Amino acid sequence: MPGFELFGDRERQEVNDVLESGILMRYGFDGARNGHWKAKELEQAICSTFHVNHAQLVSSGTAALTTALAVLGIGAGDEVIMPTFTFVASFEAVLSVGAVPVLVDVDDSLTLEPNAVRAAITPGTKCIMPVHMCGSMADLDALQEICKEHDLLLLEDACQSIGAKYKGKYLGTIGDAGTYSFDFVKTITCGEGGAVVTNSDKTYAALDAYSDHGHDHAGVDRGADLHPYLGYNFRISELHAAVGLAQIKRLEEFLAIQKKNYDLLKSILATIPQISFRRIPDETGDSCGSISWFLPSEEKAKAVVAKLKAEGILGGNFYWYDNNWHYVRNWHHLKNIATYNKLNIEQIETLERLSSKDFSVSDAILSRCITTNISLSWTEEQIKEKGEKLKSVVESVF
Ligand SMILES: *Cc1c(COP(=O)(O)O)cnc(C)c1O
Repeated sequence: MPGFELFGDRERQEVNDVLESGILMRYGFDGARNGHWKAKELEQAICSTFHVNHAQLVSSGTAALTTALAVLGIGAGDEVIMPTFTFVASFEAVLSVGAVPVLVDVDDSLTLEPNAVRAAITPGTKCIMPVHMCGSMADLDALQEICKEHDLLLLEDACQSIGAKYKGKYLGTIGDAGTYSFDFVKTITCGEGGAVVTNSDKTYAALDAYSDHGHDHAGVDRGADLHPYLGYNFRISELHAAVGLAQIKRLEEFLAIQKKNYDLLKSILATIPQISFRRIPDETGDSCGSISWFLPSEEKAKAVVAKLKAEGILGGNFYWYDNNWHYVRNWHHLKNIATYNKLNIEQIETLERLSSKDFSVSDAILSRCITTNISLSWTEEQIKEKGEKLKSVVESVF
């Protein structure tokens, strides 16, 4: 999955351009920067790669979500519908703008279950935030229909699914806005970084300003910029953008390797009669960053995990049900409302109800699910060996 596995000369060259000029800031210092505008170039590359009108780089995927929510006008007391299975950044961002995360069950696609989304809509709902988990997508047709019916915003968290497509369009570019993460373990990396993409000129103008203290970037220099709106600092540095610029040029290569490795591993796993695979709404659009598969019961899944662990080969295989970063079951800090900053009353009331909420539908999915990450550096022999090993472990628990 991660681009850091193939970090090399091209990344070093791009970073060296920045080091040689010494201009580590993405804005201003026009004369001293030797013509290098890495962040701007990376934004242009994101637009042309993902066929989207605008891209705003920021300092992380979490900052991308926060910025996107804010400029879409989502704030104090507004409800955002999001899945029980995601990364904690999704609810962190919602809480940070004063909004309320409303957690909803996932189905065997490991993403939002459209009927559960419908059932969660209230007069306070503003936005549906699907999370395209583990390299693949949510059922966007169904979610877009719900958004239209109820006049809701659609914000796609595509942080884990860079390069994946739904019906020919890149994830992230389909909703009102979408987010990517370029943290160290994502498909392409900046070290730390993220982006918001959108086709709306108005949303983009707000993204550009909000992520840089409200600067309208219309002055002759930074001092001459106006600040018609409040903003914050979620800027990316030129050093980070330089790494991303080298990485995005290699995205096609990374995706091709991922697909080749995925296809080979899946062909072996498909010969295990006791397992089934995650449902993918558009199979051809999968970024192939990982393979998610189901055992018939929680007991069998736990037996497989225990055996993989005992044999020292659990690494790269994720059992989300027990994980405390990705699944609601172990988000005790959220359920206990253990925050440093004070939350508003709508947030507190919703979070107080979280512990007693029934997530048995999600439990029944996640308790049986194992996700195997696809590495870019595997050889064919290693993949065959891994596949056969997984097969023998699964068969041994039946
Ligand atoms: C990684 C990730 C994020 C946050 O990205 P960072 O760059 O690590 O802040 C958000 N959502 C999902 C689903 C992620 O996997």
